[in-house]
Amino acid sequence: WAKADGKARWALFDPERNAHRMTRQALSSTLRQAVERGEFRLEYQPLVALDGGALRGVEALVRWDHPQFGMLAPNRFIGLAEENGAIVQLGRWVLAESCRRARVWQKDHPDEPISVSVNVAVRQVWDSDLVADVAGILDDTGLPPELLQLELTESAVMGSAGRPLQALHALHEMGVRIAIDDFGTGYSNLAYLSRLPVAALKLDGSFVRGFRDPEHPNPADETIVVALVELAHRLGLTVTAECVESAEQAERLRRIGCDTGQGWFYSRPVAPERIAEMLGTPAHSG
Ligand code: C2E
Ligand code: MG
Ligand code: MG
Ligand code: MG
Repeated sequence: WAKADGKARWALFDPERNAHRMTRQALSSTLRQAVERGEFRLEYQPLVALDGGALRGVEALVRWDHPQFGMLAPNRFIGLAEENGAIVQLGRWVLAESCRRARVWQKDHPDEPISVSVNVAVRQVWDSDLVADVAGILDDTGLPPELLQLELTESAVMGSAGRPLQALHALHEMGVRIAIDDFGTGYSNLAYLSRLPVAALKLDGSFVRGFRDPEHPNPADETIVVALVELAHRLGLTVTAECVESAEQAERLRRIGCDTGQGWFYSRPVAPERIAEMLGTPAHSG
């Protein structure tokens, strides 16, 4: 048919889409090797107390320093890694590396401990022994468990029975904090979450984005945040707001009583050396 109708041929073979598919395939098939070759990097983004501005913790965010495609953001490969299972190896590396780093900060600044927050994919809970991995890593690095926070999405813990639920309880008993990431985008409710060993909520960026423009505040979003923070606090959960991009947003969140904020207003995700600089001179030096 190619000869009979040249146009149809081009309609079926879209070079751009094909290139995109081939890139995805190339990335997907080399993920495991890339973990072994040490091609991943972690950046850390500060979680800051809305009242007073103290650095409370950091979230580890993975990047792939790809030899051919350059620095890749997680949305280019986390989904692929979840699909083909490489997330188990990658996730283990992320956990070990962030705990190792957090232990150095803790040793250098024993009086102002900051926590490290690590994203965990659903598949890590199902397809690997997450509890044993975390226990082993805490043991190897010497990081106190209460300085590790694991971020899971609502869908990962929703209706969690059996293995995931056991894992959450075992981690909680170990002293590790569990946070619900992107809270408010899924279907879970706080009444349900309060029965799980969850310590913190991370309010999805869409809530904060809803009251970005001071000239046109979105009262609906602000009302929802007020109610969520109030209820979360009554249930003993701390609340972090994601995507804080302006001083106005930070101030409104502070007044609402939100505990910590994370976003470009405070800092972009940065290299670990920058976090060390923010923490200042190590206590034991000099
Ligand atoms: P997340 O866990 O919700 O992380 C927050 C994302 O928001 C990060 O994107 C961060 O760079 C971005 N962000 C922070 N502040 C602002 C802001 O003020 N404005 C805007 N517009 N964005 C902001 P990033 O680093 O591209 O990561 C995207 C997602 O990839 C993460 O969302 C998380 O779901 C996933 N991810 C990242 N690292 C890992 C990892 O090690 N393991 C797993 N399983 N997932 C990861
Ligand atoms: Mg997160
Ligand atoms: Mg998040
Ligand atoms: Mg998010």
